[in-house]
Amino acid sequence: MPGAAEAAARAAELREQIEFHNRQYYELDAPELPDADYDALLRELAEVEAAHPELSTPESPTQRVGGHASPTFAPVVHAIPMMSLDNAMSEAELHAWGERVVRLLAQDDDPSPVGYACELKIDGIAVSLRYEKGRFSVGATRGDGRIGEDITANLRTLPDIPERLPPGSGDVVEVRGEVYLPLGTFEKLNAAQAEAGLRVYVNPRNTAAGSLRQKDPAMTASRGLRFWAYGLAENRGGPRFTRHGEALAWVGSLGFPVNEHLTVVGSLEEVYDRCRHWVAHRHDLDYEIDGVVVKVDELGRQRDLGSTSKAPRWAIAYKFPPEERTTLLEAIDVSIGRTGRATPFASLEPVFVGGSTVGVATLHNEDQVRAKDVRPGDTVIVRKAGDVIPEVVGPVLSQRPEGAEPWQFPHDCPVCASPLVRLEGESDTFCTNVDCPAQRQARIEHFASRGAMDIEGFGEQRVRLFLGLGLLGDPADIYTLDLDEVRALEGFGEVSVANLAAAIEASKGRPLANLLVGLNIRHLGGAGAQLLARHFGSLEAIRAATSEELAAVEGVGPTIADSVAKFFQNEHNRALVERLRAAGVNVTGPTVTAPSAPQTLAGKSVVVTGTLERYTRESVEEAITVRGGKSPGSVSKKTTALVAGFEPGASKLAKATELGVPVLDEDAFEQLLETGELP
Ligand code: NAD
Repeated sequence: MPGAAEAAARAAELREQIEFHNRQYYELDAPELPDADYDALLRELAEVEAAHPELSTPESPTQRVGGHASPTFAPVVHAIPMMSLDNAMSEAELHAWGERVVRLLAQDDDPSPVGYACELKIDGIAVSLRYEKGRFSVGATRGDGRIGEDITANLRTLPDIPERLPPGSGDVVEVRGEVYLPLGTFEKLNAAQAEAGLRVYVNPRNTAAGSLRQKDPAMTASRGLRFWAYGLAENRGGPRFTRHGEALAWVGSLGFPVNEHLTVVGSLEEVYDRCRHWVAHRHDLDYEIDGVVVKVDELGRQRDLGSTSKAPRWAIAYKFPPEERTTLLEAIDVSIGRTGRATPFASLEPVFVGGSTVGVATLHNEDQVRAKDVRPGDTVIVRKAGDVIPEVVGPVLSQRPEGAEPWQFPHDCPVCASPLVRLEGESDTFCTNVDCPAQRQARIEHFASRGAMDIEGFGEQRVRLFLGLGLLGDPADIYTLDLDEVRALEGFGEVSVANLAAAIEASKGRPLANLLVGLNIRHLGGAGAQLLARHFGSLEAIRAATSEELAAVEGVGPTIADSVAKFFQNEHNRALVERLRAAGVNVTGPTVTAPSAPQTLAGKSVVVTGTLERYTRESVEEAITVRGGKSPGSVSKKTTALVAGFEPGASKLAKATELGVPVLDEDAFEQLLETGELP
């Protein structure tokens, strides 16, 4: 336990940080920290204050509703304060809240069980809508809870918010709820921003808040904001209610959207069930939620329980485990793939986020690094949502160390030191040295991989070993591998060498399409290779074909055709092919043995969204169709699985979850390709 002076200093420091982040979040709509990190600061302050009660003041951020009304807008005094919510970060905390409620209510003489309304905690911005004599009169933000900002003109532009209420709805009706931006709308907005070369928005919540707190209502109107009502505040002259759920149903009957997922349950056990359900299904929705709000349903009991200065005692927000955290970006390096593509990636101080520990994250290409402006030494926000691959969202600028320089894409390959080249009009950068050891390694692994020549025993470790010893230099060397030398290596016995020899021998009979895939021709995937093999019937005929002749094959586009033609114009490649042919590798016929890919996906439909690491858009479609599957552009009831890569489409994700279609990451997708079974 720290001493009093130390605690006071820490409390002051925390308050300063929290005030800074409050301003960024509530007033500027531009938070720097993930909510989980902000919550941790607030919790730490609450703990310091609990241990040193003399440090607690009514002005402390632990005692006040965060935020202030900005002078840009006219002030609105809330007739009934708009409060915050206490948070439960775990089931244990939720349990503690539930027990406390039951204990406090035990003092009443009402033996009936407590009802709990479980609602989605919509991640948007809270507003209050006041109607006088059935007409929308004032719409306001929460502000500091007592005084909010008048944003009536902006709220009027939302089609979800009625201008008039049905006759007989009372003299004054004040509806509380959340304005939010649906994920699909957010995605479209960002696509338009990117197209116009403008900055993309970080998340739907801040975009919604920023769009709502605008001087120009036309701007608000253009953004596609929506509204969910979750409370009835003042109600003069309208019907009386005894339960929150009933009051909300009435609000719904007045024409306000009330979320369909509200459920009222009769025990804490059922409350936990609802929370668990939404932890698992939060991504099924087309809007972001960050928790479940649990409210005591009986309004009389709500009154009995009352509020603190900050939040009601009758409600609690059960917060989901975070999908965004901050961590240190230790370094940015580039890795070299089999086509020579140099992909920048972030080495991170490992952080537990979205259900797993993340230590590296791809940064995709030079433009992405620049757009995100992440620099080695930065504290960065890392996001991992559901099954989607981890992503570096951006830096926390206030924590940038002095002198942190923008990262420069290296001029030279980190493995072979040849110059790295970025072609005009392309976002990727390449190591142009075909002899680069990193490329060699990746090419040999690819040649031996299942989708190509399928040679057991040439995984990453072995290829590295053989390459390092000079036993292999390129894929053709596999067929002249000196097995006596291999036998002499540590860890190799008669059996493993015999297996290796048998695997190499067996691969010689693979279909021509597999060989074409193994040659690692840019843009050419399994399906294209099959079409070419079937049409031309031999490697020699393909080699001799012009780009036009190749493009004339049904299903082979000009990009693939050009790439194939270029491949065979290269002398080095021609020599490689010649050595493979000389080694006895099959170079003819569409089918020598079985069809090149087992029809694991026959009758199945797999939709792909976002960017994958190991496939281009064409090659992923090929990977599916060559196995007998279909790859349509949208998710439906018939979809077997949705494969989600980097920056997946939110509407596809939402649709998949709505229909219960499994969402797979790239590894799971490869398992599906191989086995036809959902992992
Ligand atoms: P809160 O968001 O935890 O809870 C209160 C709010 O929940 C209400 O104002 C309302 O807007 C919302 N809400 C959504 N669905 C609701 C429902 N069904 N019923 C009732 N309310 C519902 O508390 P808060 O005081 O608004 O702010 C704290 C939140 O803001 C935390 O999540 C915190 O992490 C975040 N925050 C983040 C930063 C940052 O820098 N990242 C800074 C300040 C605050």
